[in-house]
Amino acid sequence: MDRNEIQLMRKGELHVHLNGLVSSDVIRNLLVHDEAELPFGFDLEKDLNILQPADSLLSYLKPWQVLRLIPKSKNCLKVIIESAFLNLKSQNITFVEIRNSILYLALLNNIAVDEAMHWVVSEIECASERHKIKAALILTISRGDYAPEHLRSLLDAYEKLGRPDIVVGLDLAGNEESESPPETGSLFLKAKDKYELKVTIHAGETGRVENIVSAVNEFGADRIGHGTAASKSIEVMDLLKTRNICIEVCPISNRLTNAVDESESHPVADFIAHNVPFVICSDNPAIHCSSLTEDYLEFYRETNSSQLLRDMYSNQKKYSFIKGEYGN
Ligand SMILES: [Zn+2]
Repeated sequence: MDRNEIQLMRKGELHVHLNGLVSSDVIRNLLVHDEAELPFGFDLEKDLNILQPADSLLSYLKPWQVLRLIPKSKNCLKVIIESAFLNLKSQNITFVEIRNSILYLALLNNIAVDEAMHWVVSEIECASERHKIKAALILTISRGDYAPEHLRSLLDAYEKLGRPDIVVGLDLAGNEESESPPETGSLFLKAKDKYELKVTIHAGETGRVENIVSAVNEFGADRIGHGTAASKSIEVMDLLKTRNICIEVCPISNRLTNAVDESESHPVADFIAHNVPFVICSDNPAIHCSSLTEDYLEFYRETNSSQLLRDMYSNQKKYSFIKGEYGN
């Protein structure tokens, strides 16, 4: 299969961060427009993109030093979301689950969490309609001491807005080396139960296979983000297979974060061999100056399987959190 053929395939996207979809030119313009104070030594021409494997997670996260400075108004958010949807359109993506941390938007703009959620929900709904791409929102919180408080305030906002249909799931992201308070998992389980939201957890990206087990058993994960460490353990791959939990495989991101070393083959080959469900996703394509097509190509180089790529769209639908025509 060649790039052109893959480009033309209809696709779904189940693991992508809103900021990671926005063109670097748009980000530069917004930062200039807002007269944002850049961190000392930050080079807007070079430091917005990660093109080579980073030597640490911290250096991979460098672009977020300035991404967290935008958008500083609802209008700027609209510009960001439009850029994201143009990116999705260019990849022939027909349905998407976009992740975003609503809390930083509330803090940055000095507005209530429910207002920030309303901004994101309404702008995604408009862009979805404009571009004819079915879109949903996954609410992301970060690991760490304040995870339970952050989850509670997001869920309060979700309730206040009348549980918008577009919100389909919860996501835990951030540094896997930092533990969250023990009640975080049970709060995810309660939210699943009360609101029927689905759960995806970034786990096993930095080699911690035990985080995948706790994502499943303590957080009620329906999908696992990255999950590269699962290949280290037959038991964990069996657990994912038996529970029908899908791994969101992001081939290019996994190389750039060093989740998979340059010298190793990608663990997706083990997932295939053990019948662990997976889908291909792009994580932060614009940061990588890449695209979902490039992730498919990378997967194809690793596995040589065109059939798995032809089945990808129906697999993405199968494991999507979106109900109805484009999902379950
Ligand atoms: Zn991610």
